[in-house]
Amino acid sequence: MNKILFGSVLLVICCTARAQHLNNPGSDHGNRFEQLSYLLPTPNEYRTASGAPGPEYWQQRADYDISCELDESNLSLKGTETITYYNNSPDPLSYLWLQLDENIHDANSDNNRNNRSAMKSQMNDRELTDLEPWRKMDGYGIKITRVESSGKALPYTVNQTMMRIDLAAALQPGQKFIFKVDWHYKIPDRTYQMGRGGYEFFPADGNYVFTMSQWYPRMAVYSDFQGWQNLQFAGGAEFALTFGNFKVKMTVPADHMVAATGQCRNYNQVLTAAQFKKWQQAQNVHDPLEIATRDEAVNNEKDKSTEKKTWIYEAENVRDFAWTASRKFIWDAMPVNVDGKRVMAMSYYPKEAYNLYRKYSTKVVAHTLKTYSKHTIPYPYPVAISVEASSGMEYPMICFNYGRTEADGTYSEAIKYGMISVIIHEVGHNFFPMIVNSDERQWWWMDEGLNTFCQFLTEQEFDNNYPSRRGPAYLITDYMKQPENSLEPIMTMGDNVLSVGWNAYAKAATGLNILRETIMGRELFDYAFKQYARRWAFKHPTPADLFRTMEDASGVDLDWFWRGWWFGTEPVDIAVDSVKWYKSDDPQNAQALSKESFTHIGQQRNKEDESIRFYTDTDTTLRDFYYYNRGADEKMKQDQRDALLVKDEANSKKWAGKQFYELSFSNKGGMVMPVIIEWTYKDGTKEIDRVPVTVWRLNEEKFTKVFIKDKEVAAIKVDPYRETADIEEGNNMWPVKELPSKFQLFKAAQGPARGASSGGNAMQKQ
Ligand SMILES: [Zn+2]
Repeated sequence: MNKILFGSVLLVICCTARAQHLNNPGSDHGNRFEQLSYLLPTPNEYRTASGAPGPEYWQQRADYDISCELDESNLSLKGTETITYYNNSPDPLSYLWLQLDENIHDANSDNNRNNRSAMKSQMNDRELTDLEPWRKMDGYGIKITRVESSGKALPYTVNQTMMRIDLAAALQPGQKFIFKVDWHYKIPDRTYQMGRGGYEFFPADGNYVFTMSQWYPRMAVYSDFQGWQNLQFAGGAEFALTFGNFKVKMTVPADHMVAATGQCRNYNQVLTAAQFKKWQQAQNVHDPLEIATRDEAVNNEKDKSTEKKTWIYEAENVRDFAWTASRKFIWDAMPVNVDGKRVMAMSYYPKEAYNLYRKYSTKVVAHTLKTYSKHTIPYPYPVAISVEASSGMEYPMICFNYGRTEADGTYSEAIKYGMISVIIHEVGHNFFPMIVNSDERQWWWMDEGLNTFCQFLTEQEFDNNYPSRRGPAYLITDYMKQPENSLEPIMTMGDNVLSVGWNAYAKAATGLNILRETIMGRELFDYAFKQYARRWAFKHPTPADLFRTMEDASGVDLDWFWRGWWFGTEPVDIAVDSVKWYKSDDPQNAQALSKESFTHIGQQRNKEDESIRFYTDTDTTLRDFYYYNRGADEKMKQDQRDALLVKDEANSKKWAGKQFYELSFSNKGGMVMPVIIEWTYKDGTKEIDRVPVTVWRLNEEKFTKVFIKDKEVAAIKVDPYRETADIEEGNNMWPVKELPSKFQLFKAAQGPARGASSGGNAMQKQ
């Protein structure tokens, strides 16, 4: 060590404008690691500081007995219902609030008046009509014809999509109240008049598929945290609903197939003898069995029965009830074993979706139930149904999805993956919010974010190369790069969210994935997440209950993460500012990960986890997947080096041959994150160091840290698995490497098929 060379070479990294995000300019120490304190409600006897339901936790209950009749020729539905409402709260209630969601279609609804609009140079009839949407809503909305209890009319007031019923005497704690409501409404064309239910007309054969949702007056939620839920339905942010039992009779044309929330009680009356026999056989099959066949459906399409039949369904402990009816439906089913219990996985679809749904739908339902059950709670309901209805929407035990073939029965990979993802997503909603029953109207992310996260886990366990669109951290960076004024915190009320898909679905799901893979680790995360699902199954959680449970059950302080990722909008951008190291030989060129050739952290760990058997590996009938891997070995160039003197001669032997690397980092984005460093040694081997997030605790803007290595380093890369959502990768590498611009990447991704390696793709609905 006679040659002394000590100096530093600062690699100047171009600064991004993100420095302005730092909330205390000029100060090194902000509040990013402070506890959430007043941002969360004070714990009480209903909800504890641990995030669990408290000793006095209560929730209301509403049971429904409904009879309704579908008039196909007039496209209308009329019904009569008896609601039994149980006041389990400690409060006397002098009025009850119901939700009349169908009034979103009323011409006078605010929803048809508060749209923003502008003229374009060329406009068609539909666009012109949509300037004043009430023009297409004449006569729609629910008409209430009777509200009474024990034969006496009850006064009621309709306020847009809500209705208040005034009680003669307050409903006391522990009492129940039974009342009847009669109603009817014109069924909207859901492909044109929006809303999540209605009819779709098939001009080629002159038939309809009806998806009946938000179709009956239903109780609003009365809760310990907000009293009566009083946010109107505006078509966007979804629902807040009370658990209860349902008995529903649906009278429809005799050749219709009906699928609904719950179990059918009179298959023996509504099915043909052959269908009923196949339904019994289906209880023990290993592959989906066609109960209502394609031939039967095609014949029904032509015959158009004018007779009627009444289907009876019952469901226990559900927060809602939806149904679908059509003579176009093909129906298949198979059982799936969930924790030793038989659940019937089923699908209903018109011939237009046959080749896709017949092959995939019911199997995807089964895989979804198993995977979600593993990560949350065992699926508790007796059936799970996927219906092809050209769009995606979820209800207890039944959901409406999309995925039709071309006229000749062929389909693209994009449609196939889009369909599988939507089925996983919508079936997954059984867990969030149908069972873990959050208030969707207020907190869009509480079901969509958690469900999208579980959807990602389920996709990745379906196939280790599944082209998931949301979940991995690197897929959120296009959103986090947006200008600050177009970003909102995840903690934004449902209808105020600008980019719902990015914010409530993707950013929340990504946050959970970052917690699982990067911050907490799978073991601590999985235990805590399951704990949340168990604690709040069949109850009404709030965000604080999730935040608190995740910390309480894992022993990890996550307030900094909720503060930054959920309550804030700052992106992650950690930069390697400089590297100093002890004398080394000229490093060889090292390989770097290109944007396209890349294994994300979840994929890598799933591959190593022997308990995971990918669905596509176990069910060989589904093995027609193919993928594009763009192996790109881009060379890096290395230019600078330093040397360091060990002055203590007595101990010099101990340190001989060691390489000291002093790295300086800065926080350019604002959001603090663990720092994951990949070292590529001169001999080509690699090593990862994980620096906990608390390294930023005393200085949120920058830190310096020394690493001692036995081997000489050729290259350093921060966040090699792209697990922290770092929005600027150009400053993650040393030696500095210039990344292609987004335009170049886009061009490079123009392959022979799906060009979906980054950013997202258009194949999947939300
Ligand atoms: Zn959803």
